[in-house]
Amino acid sequence: MAEHEWMKPVRALVGKAYGRVYAWDRVNAPMIRHWCEMMGIENPAYTDAESAAAAARGGLVAPAAMLQAWCLEGAKLNNYPPGSTTENPYEALKLIEAQGYPSVVAVNSDLEFERELQLGERLYYTTRLESIGDEKTTALGTGFFVTLVMQYFSEQPGGDEKVGEQLFRVFKFKPAHAVKPSAEASAAPAKPKRPAPGISDDTRFFWDGAREGRLLIQRCKACGTLRHPPGPVCTACHSFEWDTLQASGLGTVYSFVVMHHPPVPPFDYPNPVALVELDEGTRLVAQLVGVDPGAVAIGQRVKVEFATFETSDGGDIALPQFRPLAG
Ligand code: ZN
Repeated sequence: MAEHEWMKPVRALVGKAYGRVYAWDRVNAPMIRHWCEMMGIENPAYTDAESAAAAARGGLVAPAAMLQAWCLEGAKLNNYPPGSTTENPYEALKLIEAQGYPSVVAVNSDLEFERELQLGERLYYTTRLESIGDEKTTALGTGFFVTLVMQYFSEQPGGDEKVGEQLFRVFKFKPAHAVKPSAEASAAPAKPKRPAPGISDDTRFFWDGAREGRLLIQRCKACGTLRHPPGPVCTACHSFEWDTLQASGLGTVYSFVVMHHPPVPPFDYPNPVALVELDEGTRLVAQLVGVDPGAVAIGQRVKVEFATFETSDGGDIALPQFRPLAG
């Protein structure tokens, strides 16, 4: 397909570098402590000044994964410290949007860290528009994969030092339902099928159980703690040994959403999706069935049932769904 004429000025932006965005605060102990508390990290290298001073690093450092947090704008959108650029590194997205591609979804992000940060360092990042892919049609719709790369620097007297990098890719698209069907394709297209989940050695038991009509919960063999979603290690005691418990299938709507927009082709709308708290204590996300989407309520008692769906890769999948209990 030939490229749209209007894409020319958008493509011309590829490679463009946008100016600095500064951190509001220098790397500091209180923010590190708050971050570690929220993330459940107890490494003394981050929060215990005395022990950090006695260790090889010689003082507190910031967790590498905190990199992006230093340069966030805060609760107010686009509220960056003095000296920060006023350019919009997302201008390519705005130009694409103006041509009738209103939706955006984050696709993936890669973080790279060059070194740990020490207290007192002042950070900033710059943004580069890395690439814009050719127009593509996915299950979500038709649009462009746009990749930005943010490079993080620490200001240093002898020249600023790169400390990390973040790649951020989004899909800027017009939703599938908004794409005008071509004349030959307009005759009742086949309904798209559900995407197959990624199944790993950690999660296979769950899907196999669903196929047998059993709702299984992963259980730590060492301490008995139940966990969901499945994972390789117990967060309570760090044991890698686990087996499963068959749930009663009874639970309570802990929270829910009713999806209206944007419609994703395999599903029917409105689409009620609940976070169900099982009587055993773990929670899982599942579709609600046999319910008026306007009448879903927190605290509603529900019971699992299983339905099998064809998947877009030619296979099928059994999924737990929940139906309100009468009364
Ligand atoms: Zn355990």
